[in-house]
Amino acid sequence: MTRVLSVASECAPLVKTGGLADVAGALPGALADLGDEMRTLLPGYRSVMGQVKKAKAVATFSDLFGGPARVMAAKLAGLDLLVLDAPHLYDRPGSPYLGENGHDWPDNPERFAALSYAAAHIALKGADKWKPQVIHGHDWQAGFIPEYLHEMSGGKGGVPFVFTIHNIAFHGNTGPDRIKALGLSDWRFNADHFEFWGHVSALKAGLTGADRITTVSKTYAEELMTPEFGMGMDGVLRARRDDLTGIVNGIDTEVWNPGTDPQIKVYKTAKGKGPNKTALRKEFGLKKSDGPLCVLISRLTYQKGIDLILEALPALLARGGQLALLGTGETALEVALLERAAAEPNVGVRIGYDEALSHRMIAAGDAILVPSRFEPCGLTQLYGLRYGTVPLVALTGGLADTVINASPAALAQGVATGVQFTPVTGEALANAFTRLCDLYAAPKTWAAIQKNAMKQPVGWETSAADYSALYAGLLEG
Ligand code: ADP
Repeated sequence: MTRVLSVASECAPLVKTGGLADVAGALPGALADLGDEMRTLLPGYRSVMGQVKKAKAVATFSDLFGGPARVMAAKLAGLDLLVLDAPHLYDRPGSPYLGENGHDWPDNPERFAALSYAAAHIALKGADKWKPQVIHGHDWQAGFIPEYLHEMSGGKGGVPFVFTIHNIAFHGNTGPDRIKALGLSDWRFNADHFEFWGHVSALKAGLTGADRITTVSKTYAEELMTPEFGMGMDGVLRARRDDLTGIVNGIDTEVWNPGTDPQIKVYKTAKGKGPNKTALRKEFGLKKSDGPLCVLISRLTYQKGIDLILEALPALLARGGQLALLGTGETALEVALLERAAAEPNVGVRIGYDEALSHRMIAAGDAILVPSRFEPCGLTQLYGLRYGTVPLVALTGGLADTVINASPAALAQGVATGVQFTPVTGEALANAFTRLCDLYAAPKTWAAIQKNAMKQPVGWETSAADYSALYAGLLEG
């Protein structure tokens, strides 16, 4: 049994902008089944504080990066939370990271340095008569933890730190003029610690200071060490190759269960998807059609390959296929998608973030699309597998690891679960749409793929055991 402090900038169901929240929300429960005890330190955003009713202060700071702060212990949604209540940093409208103008909060370096500082404080001094044996930090927002551990312990460190990369695109950079304000040591502003090409980088601090680094799939772990995917950190990661592992994300198989999902007309086998499909077509204003109904739920960004969908769509529509898409993100993509939906009767687009609708879409779809240029793990293809909604995915990162391409060999062996395409271009996606439509037009083959998909283990059991072993391994030496 290991006591672990998880440190995350978002955690489902309290606050979520992406997959990190799902992981942070699901891992504690999965670890508890294995006997580990995980508590989660989370920023007290306005929306989070609104949900925390019964809480007690377990640590206080008279001045945490510009104002007083407290750590509040609370039990919520089955989670043991430690919420960092720091109104000067978190009590504001908008998303966890962006103001209402859509730009990063200018004090984001301090906002998340505070989270890391509080984590180091709890690890060394304890909170609520509880001291973790391991700290597990997620993404750059937790990157300064080893720096603060080092500072506070007079160089001893003392509590092992596991650092998980969910998305290496975000570095948490700021200028060296902030070093003092962030409570960091000048002399560690070098390539071995938190300097990254003249900037202060929270991500680099985490990567250089962690005892173990993990990322959310084995393929992404390999990709991260290449210039194409490493976003400048590939050299740092190559240097730490022996400490880097990939542990694939699971999904919450209770929340995502087609047999019990309260948002849908439940079904046990993919044959039962019909009523959901009819209802969703109605909801999106789509008529009945012979081709596959494809769904896509995503942030609308370049990373997610949404522009490739626009490019390749004619190949799907030509075969009677349809698209129902839900997402928010870059304005240019939102506008282009809405224009396409207005022009094409077989395309429906909803701009927004809507958890319930995402369940209805995944239950209704014949296929789910994930054409990402890079994808550390990806979750929607896992929901697709669970719901018999065949994933059509780019051959990258976690998408490569979790889907078995319907190649002639995989079909012959009866193990295919989806369609993969590479390179990640509009042309290759168009070809993949054609392959998908061919498979869909062969009902027996299609039914076999759906059945295989639904049999895949997509829960947390295996991965939680991997994390548990990783924590335990750190305490042995
Ligand atoms: P990322 O973390 O890069 O955004 P993931 O696939 O790992 O991508 O996780 C995205 C999560 O957010 C999934 O749970 C997905 O269903 C959800 N999601 C993304 N966009 C929306 C949306 N517009 N409405 C509802 N859920 C969404």
